[in-house]
Amino acid sequence: MSRTFKSIETKLIHAGEPEPRVDGAVVLPIFQTAMFEYAGEKTYDSIRYLRLNNSPNHVALHRKLAALENAEAALVAASGMAAISTTLLTILSAGDHLLAQNCLYGGTHDFLAKDFASFGISFDLIDPEDPDSWKRLLRPTTRAIYVETMTNPLLQVGDILAAVRFAREHGLVSIVDNTFASPINFRPAEHGFDLSLHSATKYLNGHSDIVAGAIIGRAELVARITRRLNHLGGSLDPHAAFLLHRGMKTLAVRVRQQNESALKIARFLEKHPAVERVNYPGLESHPRHKRARELFDGFSGMLSFELKGGMTEAERFMKRTQLPVIAPSLGGIETLMTRPATTSHSGMSPDERRLAGISDGLIRLSVGLEAADDLIADFAQALED
Ligand code: PLP
Repeated sequence: MSRTFKSIETKLIHAGEPEPRVDGAVVLPIFQTAMFEYAGEKTYDSIRYLRLNNSPNHVALHRKLAALENAEAALVAASGMAAISTTLLTILSAGDHLLAQNCLYGGTHDFLAKDFASFGISFDLIDPEDPDSWKRLLRPTTRAIYVETMTNPLLQVGDILAAVRFAREHGLVSIVDNTFASPINFRPAEHGFDLSLHSATKYLNGHSDIVAGAIIGRAELVARITRRLNHLGGSLDPHAAFLLHRGMKTLAVRVRQQNESALKIARFLEKHPAVERVNYPGLESHPRHKRARELFDGFSGMLSFELKGGMTEAERFMKRTQLPVIAPSLGGIETLMTRPATTSHSGMSPDERRLAGISDGLIRLSVGLEAADDLIADFAQALED
């Protein structure tokens, strides 16, 4: 009988691990084999072949991820975008319609804006702060509602529980991109979401050395998405699966530290005279601080801010800092800094960015595991006249 575990810290270490251990190995080895001997499997999807997402490295991750978010099932994919696109192309078919939050990760926004039409799928963007307006956009063909726990890069916290209620009321699938929060800070299934998606490239792996994705949620939906992924082929390589598995074991200690450091840095920046605005849900000044406190166990290691003097000052500041790596992506052990207008959101037109509230001078920070005081000292020197 498989063991059950109460706390997320214990699940990170023990949930989903094979019982008994493979040849006594304390760490699940990498099964670097494309196929396994035929053992009488009766269906295509159960044939043991790497693209079919059923190697021991995949299975252990699926069980662990489901346990972390207290969900029924999970699936890993070759990237966050593989998880997102495969999910949407499973839930939606030609003629269907999606409601999606108006501020989304740039890649997701681009997929909707640039690729959906070629699949015969349509979408409307919804204001996450105004659930009353969603009904006007509902069509008989609407199948799903898609939101993000905390938006990238503005760290908005929309009324995501209203999305769950709206989905229930209208027979839609509720989907949330939970990348920014990670299962440490928010577990969507506990609040009734049907599906939670992750770029496992970020916090879940945490070491900036792979790309990977995850889909977590209701078993029946995860099974349908698995069959579609089996055909689309965006399966996670076993070596990447091994690294993701290893990285995930320290998720709780990493994310809690990053939550704490990000709050300290946000408070420092907010008080600094050269800073115009800080977006961090852990700050009392955040317009949805109360909602974030009710929903989340922590406010994440992500924040964004604008300096007085806009883009010119932002560029000067970024050049003068010594610790953060200037690079896109997030959720790693090293502090990363980027201007979303030039990286994650460069696929949007300047008008689309303006409408979404993403200025050219906005700086996004992914706080790593360096000492918060060292980061603050670095930012202080970079902000000096
Ligand atoms: N979702 C969010 C919130 C992201 O920030 C990203 C990437 O930055 C993705 C999804 C896409 O993930 P990946 O780059 O692993 O495909």
